[in-house]
Amino acid sequence: MTTANIDARRLKKRAETALIDRLIAQESLGPDGIPCLAAVPRDRPLDSQGHVGLRVWCKFCVAWHLHGMGYGHRVAHCVAAESPYNQTGYYLVAATGGQS
Ligand SMILES: [Zn+2]
Repeated sequence: MTTANIDARRLKKRAETALIDRLIAQESLGPDGIPCLAAVPRDRPLDSQGHVGLRVWCKFCVAWHLHGMGYGHRVAHCVAAESPYNQTGYYLVAATGGQS
């Protein structure tokens, strides 16, 4: 791997870390006590028509959770057994401050 490739990967990782920090900071609780997670578009379209799903960062799985199109309540499917999201699910809400 070239030095340029390594630098590009570091820059991408730094940008993703900043995005994750921003999304975690925007998590809130809805009026029903169910978490609201800030969602951004997925990296790749869902289909050849360019439909784009949403993703949220899960601080319990320490991974992205991928969803289809549209905001609203979702089942979490957390792989982290201790995740409270497994009890309530969460709402996908639009992230503020940019979409990526
Ligand atoms: Zn999770």
